[in-house]
Amino acid sequence: MSPSWRIVWRQLTLLFLAAALLGGITGYLLLCLLLAALSSLGWQLWRLHRLDQWLDGDREAGPPPAGPVWDGIQAHIARLRRQNRKRKRKLSRLLEQFQQAIAALPDAAVLLTEDDKLLWCNDRSRPLLGLAAGRDHGLPITHLLRHPDFVAFLNQRRNGDSVEFSSPVEDGLLLSARIAPYGKKQRLLLATDISRVRRLEQMRREFVANVSHELRTPLTVIAGYLETLLDSDDPALTLWEQPLRRMQQQSGRMLHIIEDLLLLARLESQKERAPFKPVAVPALLADIAEDAIAISGDQGHQISMVADPGLWLLGCEKELRSAFANLANNAVRYTPAGGQIDLRWFADEQGLHLVVADNGEGIAPQHVPRLTERFYRVNRDRSRSSGGTGLGLSIVKHILNNHGGQLRIESELGAGSVFTCDFPPELRVASGCSEPESR
Ligand code: ADP
Repeated sequence: MSPSWRIVWRQLTLLFLAAALLGGITGYLLLCLLLAALSSLGWQLWRLHRLDQWLDGDREAGPPPAGPVWDGIQAHIARLRRQNRKRKRKLSRLLEQFQQAIAALPDAAVLLTEDDKLLWCNDRSRPLLGLAAGRDHGLPITHLLRHPDFVAFLNQRRNGDSVEFSSPVEDGLLLSARIAPYGKKQRLLLATDISRVRRLEQMRREFVANVSHELRTPLTVIAGYLETLLDSDDPALTLWEQPLRRMQQQSGRMLHIIEDLLLLARLESQKERAPFKPVAVPALLADIAEDAIAISGDQGHQISMVADPGLWLLGCEKELRSAFANLANNAVRYTPAGGQIDLRWFADEQGLHLVVADNGEGIAPQHVPRLTERFYRVNRDRSRSSGGTGLGLSIVKHILNNHGGQLRIESELGAGSVFTCDFPPELRVASGCSEPESR
């Protein structure tokens, strides 16, 4: 037992002994004991009242002297209060630093409640999103930012994704927004100005398209003259036949690259998008299989085709033909003579799929993620000698993106490759239909 409790017990014992003695002398033992108990209770209540006053009163003042046990309790409370004050000061310093850091961000940062109401936003939110922390506090963010793409993105609640939309404040300002979960069911909206990046991308695209366009005419002229020279019966040219053929080959290759670059530029440009129409993929695939057999020629590849005859796709036929033909031609080019190539077209719950599988040379795993980059080739010489430009899979990826789809590549070195084009189920149309099935 602590010394202070010992003192209290001693005081109580003395009090009750004195009360019992007085009771014995006066003949009112019970009354005296009751008075002693009441006075002890009154004293403790009085201490409790003083403690309460002190807790309510000046926080900085020390506790008043209160006697054994109470002094200990008050000292303990005073220590807790001091620690609490220190912790609070530290937390508010941290909060201040955090708010200063968020305020200094070059991006807009907006804190949202669980039901997407604005809690707080930094200063950059005003020039980028037109939001002000004080004025807009508690308002639903969809009343403040009404761009349909942003509203759809917000309702999807897919953290980690991003959406691009134009700023409601300044024309020509393009924003990219992301949402991250924050604290207890809150969400942090971050919006970045990406106008400069997009402008640079646009300049790069236009530059490549312009250069390709400018080169096409002189190259076509050169190719034309080379053809004329090769067709000529002039004996003086016999000596030059070999170099002329090489020149014709190379100019043909350059024209092929230029055509592919122009096609990529067209695919990237949003302006020239042809409207989607129902495409008879089974018939398209039959054509492509025939072309692949022709390309294979003497190499005798086994080319099979399995297509759901009633399954059509809503899309751009020219682009789809180019994508599927690219995959089929690659399969022929990268599969040794006599190899097996399978084309499959089917649908499942996830969507529609076109598969081009071969048992050719396959691709080592480190190359697979980079195959759709422009001019990325596993073996440059091998690609060139078989007439490749290094742009084929990049074109396929763009075409699939334009259709809301994606390209999946699975491959094993020496065993073969499987290229799968996935399309969303809403692009499904019944055969012969002029309208989409599910729209
Ligand atoms: P390329 O014109 O060089 O074929 P692509 O973009 O079509 O360019 O393909 C990029 C690279 O991917 C090719 O160089 C080749 O190495 C590899 N590749 C594409 N298809 C296949 C395939 N079916 N089997 C093995 N490798 C392939």
